[in-house]
This record gives sequence, C-alpha cells and structure tokens, in this order.
Amino acid sequence: MKPHGPIPPGFAADAGGMLLIGGDRAEALADVAGDTPLFVYDSAMLAARVAEWRAAMPAEVQLHYAMKANPYAPLLAFMGRLVDGFDVASGGELRAALASGMAPEHISFAGPGKRDRELEAAIEAGATLNLESAGEAGRALSIAARLGVTPRLAVRVNPDFDLKGSGMKMGGGAKPFGVDADAVPALVRRLIDAGADWQGFHIFAGSQALDAGAIAETQARTVALAGRLANAIGAAPPLVNLGGGMGVPYFPGDVAVDVAAVGAALGDTLAKRDAALADSRFAMELGRWLVAEAGVYLTRVIDRKTSHGETFLVTDGGLHHQLAASGNFGTVIRRNYPIGVANRFGADPEETVSVVGCLCTPLDRLGDQVALPRAQVGDLIALFLAGAYGATASPAGFLGQGAAREMLV
Ligand SMILES: *Cc1c(COP(=O)(O)O)cnc(C)c1O
Repeated sequence: MKPHGPIPPGFAADAGGMLLIGGDRAEALADVAGDTPLFVYDSAMLAARVAEWRAAMPAEVQLHYAMKANPYAPLLAFMGRLVDGFDVASGGELRAALASGMAPEHISFAGPGKRDRELEAAIEAGATLNLESAGEAGRALSIAARLGVTPRLAVRVNPDFDLKGSGMKMGGGAKPFGVDADAVPALVRRLIDAGADWQGFHIFAGSQALDAGAIAETQARTVALAGRLANAIGAAPPLVNLGGGMGVPYFPGDVAVDVAAVGAALGDTLAKRDAALADSRFAMELGRWLVAEAGVYLTRVIDRKTSHGETFLVTDGGLHHQLAASGNFGTVIRRNYPIGVANRFGADPEETVSVVGCLCTPLDRLGDQVALPRAQVGDLIALFLAGAYGATASPAGFLGQGAAREMLV
C-alpha cells in the first residue's frame, strides 16, 4: 500500500455514503452532466478561499487570479466578481478574460513570446502588458505608436533570488521570464520617455510553496528590490505585483500554507517599505491556491481486474485530463494525489488497488496501490485537488479521447 495525499477539508458524504460537492450528490452531478469523466468546481469553496485570503492579508494588497490554473468560462465569470484583477498569459486567455466581463484595466498580460498580434490586442483593449524583454518593449511601443494610443506597460523583473522550497522556480539566474533586475531601470526610463503609461513592476519568483516563512522572506526581498529599482529609476511604480507562490498540499505529509502568517509578515514588510514605494499599490497573483481544492474529478470504474496479484480499477478517465495527478507534469517521483470512492466516501479502506485510466500507456495511473473501500464496476472514483492545472493542462486529444465535461456548482 502507498499513501495518498490529504483530502481537502470541507468534503463530506450524505447518509448513504455518497460524496457531496457543493451540497449535491456526486452521482446526481454525473447524471446532470450526462456522462463521466467530469470536473466539478464548488463555487462556495472558491468564495471561501478568497474570503480567507482577504481576512489574512493587509487591506491594501489586491488579489489577482492567474487564470491559466483554470480558465473554465463559468468559473472565470464567478472569480471575476470576487477578485481585483486577472493575470493572463496568452492572447487566448486575454480574449477569455475580456469575455468574462473583467474590465481591461484590471487585466495584466505576462508571458514570454507574445506575438505582435497579441501585443496589439492587449494595447487596443487597454490591458496592461507585463513586458518580458527589451525587444518586447520595443515592439509594444511601436505598435502603440502605430495605433496612436498610450499603452499601459509594466516590466516583469527577473529577480536575483528564487522562492525557496517552491515546486517551480520562476526567478533567480538565467530565465526566459522577465528582465534581469540590473537592466530594469534603463528600460523603465525608456518607457516613460516614450510616453507610455508605466504601470510598475511584476516580480514572480516561484510557485507551489507551502512554507509561510519562505514565502514571507521572498515577499520581503521582492518589496526591497522594488524599492531599490524605484530609487534607481527616480519614479514610483503605481503597482508592484508581488507574484504568488502559495501552493496546496497534494501529497502525504504536505501541510497547508499558514496564510495568516504570510499576511502578518506582509503587513510588517509593507509597513517598513522604502519611502519610494509610499504611494504604490501592491498585488498578489494566485492560481492554484485559489482554485485547486474546489475541484473534483469524477471518473467511473469500467473494469475491475487482477494481474499478478495486483487489483486494477480501470476507469473512463486518465492522464488526458489529469496529467499532473498521473505524475507526468513536472514531478520527479510519482506520488498519489488524494483519491476516494465517491459513492462510498468516508468508508474504511478494505483493499489495496491501483486506479488506472483508459489510455493504452503504463503512464496512465491515477492512484498507485492505494487503500480504498471496495469499488465495483459502475462506481465513481473521485480525484481531489482537480480545480487547478487539470482540464486545460492535460493532453485531452491524446488517443482521440476528447475533453472531460466541466461544471460549476
Ligand atoms: C503560473 C503563474 C502564476 C500562477 O501560479 P500558481 O502556482 O498557479 O499560483 C502566477 N503568475 C505567473 C506569472 C504565472 O506564470
């Protein structure tokens, strides 16, 4: 038997043992959707998450949603009413953000390799471009001049440090992201001199960290760096986007981020900030932490078989929807995401089984030798933490399978 990650707090079963999501029975949700596999996102959990963040953070810090974690249109529209802005990372995401009703001045667009037509769409819409290089800055300025509009431009800074303990390092050393810190002052002066509406800095050092101390230390270094840059430029950044970094506990032994501790430390950091940042606004941009726990992936058992003593539950889902849960999206050692039998939720484990998907590859494993209550053909398996980097971060077209259904409840 191998352990699985902790099931997020807040999930329970009805008297018959059926998992409830947003108060609805998992089996009933699958009926309404018409088929499995199905992603269900719980809007009350999304709202609770935003409220938890706001209660913990200094009031002057804004919350942006990094929509690449989950761009499902109904979820985006729901989140848009709760957060202060969206961060997008492609022209497609920009279109989705605008279609959701988010005001363009609350949309920022980061990401390397923006094509001219993407820069143009953002400038035309009035969104902020987080510039990733001097070359991109030059292209943005000439497109704005051609259009005859004043572009809203921020500079993404590649900091000299990274976020310790983060699953994905986005700063420190040579990176395709952002402008090296020592080259930032000259670039910002160039933007200001060209008449652009300079929006400030975007400094993103890493993601999927659970240690509040490491996050707080990175935020302190980020604010200090923004202060040094502001002094070197001789102008105050209107906005300092501090990045994100808060992760969620996927695996056995992982412990949730102490959000209150992050918020308290950020309050101290901002209280002591450089005078050059006195009038600056601050923002954090979060994807995973806001949406991961609110999502459940439901997949049905199609076959039950044994091979060389190992029992397999073969489902209609798989890595084509849940690449990260299968261990094939940036993980070195495969470990089990939280998993359960939705129609026997909370029942004691009775057997050790491997839950696999329907793809013809040994990589397609959703649960490796996990202890579960006995499940039969037709039962529903629930994979938790499916709200972020699931549906759109997995190869849905592989083997002709197609996309999963999605639903916001
Ligand atoms: C991916 C990304 C995020 C979101 O990261 P999470 O780990 O989902 O919170 C935020 N900002 C930028 C620039 C990103 O590329």
